Amino acid sequence: LLQLYAPLNFLGFVYREIKHSLADMEKMFTLLRQNTEIADKPDAVALQTGNAVIRFESVDFGYERNRQILHDVGFEIPAGRTLAVVGASGAGKSTLSRLLYRFYDVWQGKITINGTDLRDMTQESLRAHIGIVPQDTVLFNDTIYYNIAYGRTGASREEVIEAARAAHIYDFIEKLPEGFDTMVGERGLKLSGGEKQRVAIARTILKNPPILIFDEATSALDSKTEKGIQAELKAVSTNRTTLIIAHRLSTIADADEIAVMEGGRIVERGRHAELLARDGHYARLWALQQHDESPVA
Ligand code: ADP
Ligand code: MG
Repeated sequence: LLQLYAPLNFLGFVYREIKHSLADMEKMFTLLRQNTEIADKPDAVALQTGNAVIRFESVDFGYERNRQILHDVGFEIPAGRTLAVVGASGAGKSTLSRLLYRFYDVWQGKITINGTDLRDMTQESLRAHIGIVPQDTVLFNDTIYYNIAYGRTGASREEVIEAARAAHIYDFIEKLPEGFDTMVGERGLKLSGGEKQRVAIARTILKNPPILIFDEATSALDSKTEKGIQAELKAVSTNRTTLIIAHRLSTIADADEIAVMEGGRIVERGRHAELLARDGHYARLWALQQHDESPVA
C-alpha cells in the first residue's frame, strides 16, 4: 500500500514546492532526494510564533527499518538560545536537523515547538519558521540575486542588497562582471564553499526566521573563512532559537549549551568550560582538535 501511495503523495509535494518558484531541473533533483512519506494531518495547525522553544523528547529514529540511528535523544533549546551539537562524523548530528525540518518523522518520542508536536503542524508553516544554512549549499542555475531573493518571496531589491551586506557577500558580488545579475550554479560562475555559505546566510537573513539551523561545513572551508562566517552567523543567531552542528569546537565555545553525540546518543551536555573540566568525551574531542589545528612544527 505504501508503495502505491508514496508516488502520489510525492508528486503533490513536488508540485507544492515548485509552484512558488521557477521550475528548475536541479531543484527537482534536490526534491527527489527528500523523503516523500510525510503528509499533513487533515487537522494540522499552522505554527505561528516568533519565540520558539524546541524540544526533542526521547527520540528514536532510523532511515531504514532495520537500522536505528538515534537512540533516546532528548534536549530543549529555550527561545532565542543556541545549542551546539558536536561529535564524530556519522554520530547523527545532521539527522537532528532533518528531523526538525520534518523531512522524516521520528520512530518513538516526539519533537515539539512551543509544546506542539511537529506532526500536528502544517509542513509549510513549520518550514516557514526555519532557516537552514546547510553543510553544502546547492545554488540554483540562476542569478546570484535570485539565489538570495529566494529566501523570501516579495522581498524588495533594497532588502536583498541589505541581506547580502549583512552576510558579508555584497563586496564580492559588486566586483563580479555583472554584479547581482551574474549567473551562478553548475552552469554559471562556480562559487567557493565559503561564498556559497554566505549566499545561504544572506537568504536566511532575508527569510528572517525565528529558528535557525546551521550545519557547519567541514573540509570545504579553511579555518580563516570559517571564522569569518562564524562572526556573521553569530549576528544572525542572536535572539533566534539556534541549532548549530559544529565541526570546529573553537567556533562554539560560547554556545549556551553544547551536546556531544556518539553513536546516535547524547553522551554529554553542558557549557564549554564545564565539559572541559569534566575531562570526558568533549575534553577528548577538544584535545584532538588542538592537535589537528596546531601548525606543523
Ligand atoms: P553526522 O551529521 O553526525 O555526520 P548523520 O546524521 O548525517 O551524521 O548520519 C548518521 C547516520 O545515519 C550515518 O550512519 C549515516 O550513514 C546514516 N544516514 C544519513 N542519512 C541517511 C539516509 N538518507 N539514508 C540512510 N542512512 C543515512
Ligand atoms: Mg553531518
